[in-house]
Amino acid sequence: MIARAKQAATALLAAPPALALLRARAQRGGPVTVLCYHTLSADSGGPDAWTALRVADFRAQVAMLRQHHDIVPLDTALAEGPGRRGRPRAVITFDDGEAGLHRHLLPLLPEIDVPVTVYVATGQIETGRPYWFDRVMGALAQGACVIDLSREGLGRWNLPAAPGAARWAVLGGLLEALKRVEPARREALADRIAGIRPPPPGRPPLGPMTRAELAELAADPRVTIGAHSHCHNLLDQIPLAQAEASMERSRRLLREWTGQEVAHFAWPNGNHGAALRAAAARLGFRSAAALDNRLWRAGADLFALPRLAIGRYDSARRFRLRLAGL
Ligand SMILES: [Zn+2]
Repeated sequence: MIARAKQAATALLAAPPALALLRARAQRGGPVTVLCYHTLSADSGGPDAWTALRVADFRAQVAMLRQHHDIVPLDTALAEGPGRRGRPRAVITFDDGEAGLHRHLLPLLPEIDVPVTVYVATGQIETGRPYWFDRVMGALAQGACVIDLSREGLGRWNLPAAPGAARWAVLGGLLEALKRVEPARREALADRIAGIRPPPPGRPPLGPMTRAELAELAADPRVTIGAHSHCHNLLDQIPLAQAEASMERSRRLLREWTGQEVAHFAWPNGNHGAALRAAAARLGFRSAAALDNRLWRAGADLFALPRLAIGRYDSARRFRLRLAGL
């Protein structure tokens, strides 16, 4: 009953007259809409993971965005700042440095012709080994499965066979539980989960670009490369000196690998704090992006730039509502 009422209310809000009012309200003060994606997947058969947006959905979202926004490079948005009059602006970003960006985004860029910022976590590119969350999502990318971590105090997770948002609610819950575990133990648990289902031959469904693929992506003039740490740990959960070294190392490697200046950073999982923001400034970054699902308005800290995280299960209607600030 509640779900039906919620659905009806969403339909009403997403109808053109209400949506236009919401959009006008959200755009008061000239905010910048910064979108955070992770990777793209084939339109059919891709991994059933929130981070893997279908190419067709991304193309449709860019078209929707263009109806009411100018899509600008991050540097332009930073130079102008929020508060500018005129047509609303949006910035497109991708986190992590997944192989799907080379496979699906790079060939799409000439057609959609939009500037994008790609924040790359260098550890997985250096080793070729996917981070723990991709190993878990990759192993559980399809089909029914029970993951019993009750003996570890982390619950029992029953994934249904049918792909979609309901399945993701379970898988996303498992990932959130694992995020609360200390890094070394989390790595071991991820390996145990990944071991339940041996990976298919070839490259895993979710994993990093190679250095050559990254260099090719970075060479596209529409692409700005930003850093995203080397370790991709939640930086507020490790010692500050270690976090700072990881931030610095990712920038140094990216400069080396792409031959380009790396001026921007994104916090893994959006986790940051005052000492970390000060460290980002000290290291010479010009901005650091967070993930608080808000529009970037005047007065925001440039080292905690708000972004809207968009994933595979955001329908076209939901996407429009999120752009309108809901
Ligand atoms: Zn990340």
